[in-house]
Amino acid sequence: MIVLGIETSCDETAAAIVTEDRQILSNVVLSQLDEHRPYGGVVPEIAARAHLDHIDRLVSQAMEEAHLGFADLSGIAATGGPGLIGGVIVGVMTAKSIAAVHDLPFLAVNHLEGHALTARLTDDVAFPYLLLLVSGGHCQLLLVEGVGRYALLGSTIDDAVGEAFDKTAKMLGLPYPGGPSLEKAALQGDATCHDLPRPMLGRPGCDFSFSGLKTAVRHIAEALPRPLPVQEQADLAASFQAAAAASLVNRCRNAMTALADSHPEVRTLVVAGGVASNQTIRAALTGLCADHGYSFVAPPPRLCTDNAAMIAWAGIERLRLGLTDGLDFAPRPRWPLDPDAISKQPRAT
Ligand code: ATP
Ligand code: MG
Ligand code: FE
Repeated sequence: MIVLGIETSCDETAAAIVTEDRQILSNVVLSQLDEHRPYGGVVPEIAARAHLDHIDRLVSQAMEEAHLGFADLSGIAATGGPGLIGGVIVGVMTAKSIAAVHDLPFLAVNHLEGHALTARLTDDVAFPYLLLLVSGGHCQLLLVEGVGRYALLGSTIDDAVGEAFDKTAKMLGLPYPGGPSLEKAALQGDATCHDLPRPMLGRPGCDFSFSGLKTAVRHIAEALPRPLPVQEQADLAASFQAAAAASLVNRCRNAMTALADSHPEVRTLVVAGGVASNQTIRAALTGLCADHGYSFVAPPPRLCTDNAAMIAWAGIERLRLGLTDGLDFAPRPRWPLDPDAISKQPRAT
């Protein structure tokens, strides 16, 4: 089984080809950093146009690098949501066209399912597992019971952790994109310099909150001279990162404690999404897993940030189960992994 995956839900245009035996034959990612940098964030209309400009060339490149023709494929998968709708439409229409012309199955993949299943592409991870999904738009703890079977244990009541990294980086005057540059700045900083709040620490449950931490950084930064001296940037970055990591660890610990009673068979923590590429967070979660006798699985950083290999792989997982989609599939700007949990979810403030 060989599947072409297409990802266009945010600011990465990507195409990849993956096999059922977990080989990544090609994995092409074009980031639109230069297009969005002047605005300090992703501009949906610019993103959609850029996807349209590049998607055909990237698909051709992925096919060439894999030395394959469309007739060699078993299916075409594209991110069907959630995400910026203009971009999702570009990817879905491209995939549907190829599927229709070559009479291949089409698979509409939930972008979050792509992140969630990546660990099964890179490592021997069996269901069920605990998933910490940490990205630009999401911060959730989920019990992953199978393909398409997700139970939400907790989510953020305000900002996603990646969003908090991005906004904090901006406040500190660090270059776009914020998450990676904050991590880089933190390398030169002292994480004990500022005693920042550890959001939600000591509270029961698995929900997250990052807006208070972000505001605490802002109050300190506002009292400092502008532009911020490099060492101040580094110390604040390191202190923020340590607080964010501690908060994530605390929420994961609560999930592990809850699962010990209800689902003792869960022994693996998987971290996924762009923030999962952060080395401090990975190290903190490694320590937590060691304490709780859990295995810890984190895909390589280039498969944590948005890519199409994860979409192709989720396509393979779905194709194996016969979960294909019709060409009438409508792109979805919102698409929760656990639809039953919507009513239980706290409202963002
Ligand atoms: P979603 O997956 O929720 O739809 P997205 O696709 O924009 O959102 P990803 O590409 O999965 O998100 O992740 C991007 C996010 O990850 C950004 O917020 C970015 O700042 C953050 N990020 C990337 N690298 C790092 C890093 N090294 N440290 C911290 N955050 C990071
Ligand atoms: Mg991105
Ligand atoms: Fe993502």
